[in-house]
Amino acid sequence: MKIIVKKFGGSSVKNTDRIKNVARRVVETKRKGYHVVVVVSALGDTTDDLITLSKEITSSPPDREMDMLLSTGEQVSVALLAMAIHELGYKAMSFTGAQVGIVTDSAHTRARIKSISTKRFIEALRQDNIVIVAGFQGKTEDQEITTLGRGGSDLTAVAIACTLKAAACEIYTDVDGVYTTDPRIVKEARKIQKISYDEMLELASLGAQVMQGRSIEVAKKYGIPIVVRSSLNKNPGTIICKEAKDMEEVVVSGVAVAKNEVKVTLFGVPDKPGIAAKLFKDLAEKNINVDVIIQNKTKTNRTDISFTVYQDEFKRTQSLIKKIVKDVKAKGVTIDENIAKVSVVGVGMRSHPGVAATMFGALAKQKINIDMIATSEIKISCVIKKDKATKAMQVLHRAFGLGGKSSKAKKKKK
Ligand code: ADP
Ligand code: ASP
Ligand code: MG
Repeated sequence: MKIIVKKFGGSSVKNTDRIKNVARRVVETKRKGYHVVVVVSALGDTTDDLITLSKEITSSPPDREMDMLLSTGEQVSVALLAMAIHELGYKAMSFTGAQVGIVTDSAHTRARIKSISTKRFIEALRQDNIVIVAGFQGKTEDQEITTLGRGGSDLTAVAIACTLKAAACEIYTDVDGVYTTDPRIVKEARKIQKISYDEMLELASLGAQVMQGRSIEVAKKYGIPIVVRSSLNKNPGTIICKEAKDMEEVVVSGVAVAKNEVKVTLFGVPDKPGIAAKLFKDLAEKNINVDVIIQNKTKTNRTDISFTVYQDEFKRTQSLIKKIVKDVKAKGVTIDENIAKVSVVGVGMRSHPGVAATMFGALAKQKINIDMIATSEIKISCVIKKDKATKAMQVLHRAFGLGGKSSKAKKKKK
């Protein structure tokens, strides 16, 4: 069975005209003789709107009920798309995640897929249906509805493509592919033809919303290539695949920004073994993810420890921090919500010294102060003031020659 999985994001189904457009594209593939499985997100900003509604009722909705609420968005899209395909004279059946046998763990609002049954898919495809699946959702073994975290329809599509051993997994969105940086923020952003799983994973986790990070982890694990392209034109898009030798020629592939972190600084912390261990153990026990960490020894025998946490987890951090300040006998704590993290990513960095110097130099030239720095093998991140984020993206994009053909830093000097 030659199966193609196509995923259409919220912007591609934001109104009925767009839904009809999706129906036509899906039917085109069907006409070419493929079996087609379509994964769809909720219409436009529906998920955000549902979250806003819940906030009008309570600031702390139970996670189970949040999943019940958010999963309704995708159910609307699948039914409407099935109707649009019927109108074109083709057979289509829509399914919720639960109906099609997407089984997850019970971590409501951020569940992980445990298994997907092929039975329902194969039956419906054999009967010549185009199969339409609600993205972003599944059910636990106890029949509870779960969702897979924001952007989770990407994960649904990739996981289905792996399970069905699809011939292709295509992610359709409102831009032509993966760009060197967010094309809505930096005009000179350039579409990347091919990008490695690792680079895409870093870009996604550092703020490039075009693909959900977890979906890339799954694609990498199973080695399935993904194509990201526009639902509004026929341009070729970006291929996300295994790293190839020529990818290392490019030092920096992309620039990303994340504005969803808060910086916490504990100052005047006694400088002795075990303090950092206690602090981060307490945070981990409350399931709070810590990102960038910095510790600075002062001239006294005390240190300052700064770290960033994600905004949506910050509320849970606050009362715990107060307790920790007391426990570790710190002199005080400051909170800075006015931060952004800009990052440069590229597998070529591994073998190319000087990337950090170029990055810091470009920021310095614009008088952008660096608050914190974090590095890994293929990325460098700097925490800066939030109002400098757009400027920083533009100058880094330019400094690494990502925009045009006349790039200086793009290719490694031989
Ligand atoms: P969908 O509704 O299709 O899921 P998303 O809004 O989740 O689409 O993702 C697409 C958006 O991601 C684009 O409109 C773009 O603004 C943003 N984006 C951020 N970084 C990048 C990047 N490096 N390449 C492409 N798009 C990016
Ligand atoms: N509708 C969900 C969200 O907005 C899932 C998705 O679009 O991928 O996060
Ligand atoms: Mg998305």
